[in-house]
Amino acid sequence: SLTPEVMESYWLPFTANRKFKRDPRLFSGAEGMYYTTTDGRRILDGMAGLWCVNAGHGQRKIIEAIKAQAEQMDYVSSFSMSHPIAFEFAHAIAQVTPGDLNHVFFANSGSEAVDTALKMARAYHRARGEPGRTRLIGRAKGYHGMGWGGLSVAGMSRHRRDFGPLLPEVSHLNHTHFPDKNAFSRGRPAWGAHLADELQQMMAIHDPSTIAAVIIEPVVGSGGVLPPPVGYLERLREICDRHGILLIFDEVITGFGRLGTAFGAELLGVLPDIVTCAKGMTNAAVPMGGVIVNQKVWDGFTAGPEGTIELFHGYTYSGHPLACAAGLATLEVHRDLDLYARTRRAAQRWEDTAHALKGDRHVIDIRNIGLLGAIELEPRAGEPGERGSEVNEMCFQEGILIRNTGDTLVLSPPLIIEDAEIDRIFDTIRNALKKVA
Ligand code: PMP
Repeated sequence: SLTPEVMESYWLPFTANRKFKRDPRLFSGAEGMYYTTTDGRRILDGMAGLWCVNAGHGQRKIIEAIKAQAEQMDYVSSFSMSHPIAFEFAHAIAQVTPGDLNHVFFANSGSEAVDTALKMARAYHRARGEPGRTRLIGRAKGYHGMGWGGLSVAGMSRHRRDFGPLLPEVSHLNHTHFPDKNAFSRGRPAWGAHLADELQQMMAIHDPSTIAAVIIEPVVGSGGVLPPPVGYLERLREICDRHGILLIFDEVITGFGRLGTAFGAELLGVLPDIVTCAKGMTNAAVPMGGVIVNQKVWDGFTAGPEGTIELFHGYTYSGHPLACAAGLATLEVHRDLDLYARTRRAAQRWEDTAHALKGDRHVIDIRNIGLLGAIELEPRAGEPGERGSEVNEMCFQEGILIRNTGDTLVLSPPLIIEDAEIDRIFDTIRNALKKVA
C-alpha cells in the first residue's frame, strides 16, 4: 500500500518531494474518453493524457498488437539489424506525411526526437561540406523536451534556469504568436505574419552561413496553444530557403491527427525539412518518438560516393518492436475511425463552444486550432498562476481533467470526443469561472 514512506521514494517530474506530498491525483484505469481514479471516480480526459492519447484510451487493436508482439519477439537491436515491422511502420508514416517527408528515424520520446533532429541538422551541413553551419535557433515560448538540445533551443526560461550552461551557439527569436491580448481569434490570427522577419533581422548579428537550423512548434503547445498567424510560416520558410537554413517543425503535439490532418504541416500548408514526433505516434501506449526528414536532407547524407554515410547516433530502443507494433496499429485505428476527418468536424463545434466563453468572468483570450484549445485568464493581482490552478482543481473535482500553464487553461482531448463531451468540458469551466475568486 502507499504508505508515506513508499510515496517518498518516487520523485515525480516537475516537483521536488515537498510539493509531491501535497496530494497527487492517482489513476488506475482508462477507457475511451475517461480515466478512473484509484478511489473509483470517472474523469473525463480533456488532455488526452498529456496531449498524446489521440485515439482515446484502451484501443483494442493497439493493445492486441502490443500483446502479440511481446509474445513473438520482445526486443531486437537496431544496430546493423532490425525487424520487419520497423520498416512497415516507417513506410506507413511516410504514406501519411505531406510532401516528401519520407524518411523516418525512431527514438523513444519527444525529447530524444528533438535532440536527434538538432544533431541531424548539424550533421547534414557537415556532410555537405559546410561544417561551420552549427548555430541553432529556437523561439520564445517554444517547448522541445528535456534533453540538453531541446532545453537549449526552448523558449521557456523557467525550464532552463537550474541547468546551465546549456548548448553554445544557440539563439532565440523573441517574438511569440500572440497577435495581441484580447484578440479572441478563431483559429489562426490574421495579423502577425511579419513577426517571422525577426529571423531575417538576426542575420545582422549572425552570418547566415553559420546557421544550421530553425526549430519551432508550428502551433505552440505547452507554451499556451498559440496558432501561427496566417502567412507566418510561409515567411519563415522563405527566409530559411534564401539562406540554406533547415526548418524543423516540432510536431510532438500536432503530429498524428491533433489538427485534423495526419501532421500539422499539411493543414498549415508549409513543408519543413525535418519533423519531430512522439506522443500520438503509438497512442501513448508504448513510449516512442520519431524524426522524419525530407528527400533533400536524406540525400544530403546519402548522395555521396559511399552511399549511406555512417552517422554515430542511435538508441538501444530505437524502433523497439513493441513500439513499432503499437504505432502500426495506431495508424490502422486512425484509418478505421476516419479520425482526421472526424477531428475536423469536431473542431468546428470545439471552436464555437470554446469561443462562447468570450465575455465570461476573468477570460481575456481564447485560442483554438484543431482539437487544441486555450482559455487565458486574467491573473489575480499578486498571485500569478493561482487562478489557473484553482480552476484546474475545481474542474477536477467536477470530473474533468484539464491543464493550466499559469493562468492559461489548456485543452487537448482525445480526438474521439463527442459533442456532449465538448459541451461538458466548457460548461464545467464556465461554472468554475463563476465561482473562482
Ligand atoms: N516537443 C514538444 C512540442 C512537446 O510538447 C513535448 C512534450 N510535451 C516534447 C517535445 C518532449 O516530449 P517527451 O516528453 O516525450 O520527451
